[in-house]
Amino acid sequence: MTSDMYTPRNPVTQYPAPPFTPQQQDNPGHAPLMDPKPDHGEHSYVGHGRLAGRKALVTGADSGIGRAVAIAFAREGADVALSYLEVEDDEADSTASYVEKAGRKAVQLPGDLSDEQVSISVVNDAAAQLGGLDILVMVAGEMPTVDSIDDFDTETFDHLVRLNLHNLFWMTKAAKKHFRPGASIITTSSVQGFHPSPELVEYAVTKAGTANFVRGMAQQLAPEGIRVNGVAPGPFWTPLQPSSVPNEKIESFGGQVPFGRPGQPAEIAATYVYLASQEASYTSGETIVVSGGEPLH
Ligand code: NAD
Ligand code: MG
Repeated sequence: MTSDMYTPRNPVTQYPAPPFTPQQQDNPGHAPLMDPKPDHGEHSYVGHGRLAGRKALVTGADSGIGRAVAIAFAREGADVALSYLEVEDDEADSTASYVEKAGRKAVQLPGDLSDEQVSISVVNDAAAQLGGLDILVMVAGEMPTVDSIDDFDTETFDHLVRLNLHNLFWMTKAAKKHFRPGASIITTSSVQGFHPSPELVEYAVTKAGTANFVRGMAQQLAPEGIRVNGVAPGPFWTPLQPSSVPNEKIESFGGQVPFGRPGQPAEIAATYVYLASQEASYTSGETIVVSGGEPLH
C-alpha cells in the first residue's frame, strides 16, 4: 500500500484512456480477464478509521465498484460481508483476502439477488455472521444492451427489474430489522438514470428508479435515524462493460466525458465511504454523481 492516492496528479492522465483493445466477455464478466486490469485500490487505498467497528454488507463485491468499496471499507475499519454470484467465487476469494489483510472479518455469501428469499437470507446471514449490521451497500446489477424496442423481451426485463430494483426493497426491508440509528444504506444508480442512451433504455429506467428510491426511502427512514443515499457512476472500467456492450463501445469507452477516459473503481470507493460514515450525518436522499466531469444537472 502506498500513499499514492494523496499525491496531486492530473486526473486526465492518471489512468488509461481510449483507444482500448477490443474485448468481449460472457455475463457476468471477470476483472482479471480485462486489458488493462481495473484498479480496485488494492495498492493505493489508505484508510483512516472512518468506519471503525462497523459491520457492512456489500453486494457485487467480487469485482468492479463493489470490490473497491469492500477493500476501502475494510481499510477504514469495517468488517465486510461480500455478496456475489457463485460463478464469481475466485474473485470473491481475492476480495475477501484483501479484507482480511486489512485485519477485518470477511464473510462470503454467494447467491442470486434476483430472488427474494436469497436476498433476504444474504442480509440475515450477513448480520448473523458479522454480529450485527450498520451499513448496506447495494452495487450488484446487470446492464443488457437492447438496440431496438422490436427486441424488447419481457423475461429479460422482469429479471432486470427484480435484480436492479426489487432487490433494493427486499434488502432494505430485511436490513431494517438489524439496523440501529446511525445506519446507512447506499445504492448504485448511473448517469444513465438521468441521461439515458438509446440502447440502454431498460437499464436506464431501473437506474432512474434507483435514484428515486433513494429520495423517497430516505424520507421514510429518517425518523428511524437511518440515512439512504446513492452513487451515480459515469463510465467505469469494470467487467460489466465487456460483458454488456459491443466492441466498438469498448474501444472508445469513457472517451466522451470531459476527462476523456473511464473512471477506475478505486476512484469511486471513497464516495461510498463518505456516505457510509458519520461524516455524512446530515446527508440523506442524495445521489452523488461521479462522472469524470460530465455535468448532469
Ligand atoms: P461488475 O460486473 O464488477 O459488478 C456487477 C456485480 O453484480 C457482479 O460482480 C455480480 O457479483 C453482481 N451481480 C450480477 N448479477 C447478479 C445476481 N443475479 N445476483 C447477485 N449478484 C449479481 O461491474 P460494476 O460496473 O462494478 O457494476 C456495479 C454497479 O455499478 C452495477 O449496478 C452497475 O449498473 C453500476 N454502474 C456501473 C457503471 C460502469 O460504467 N461500470 C456505470 C454506472 C453504473
Ligand atoms: Mg463480478
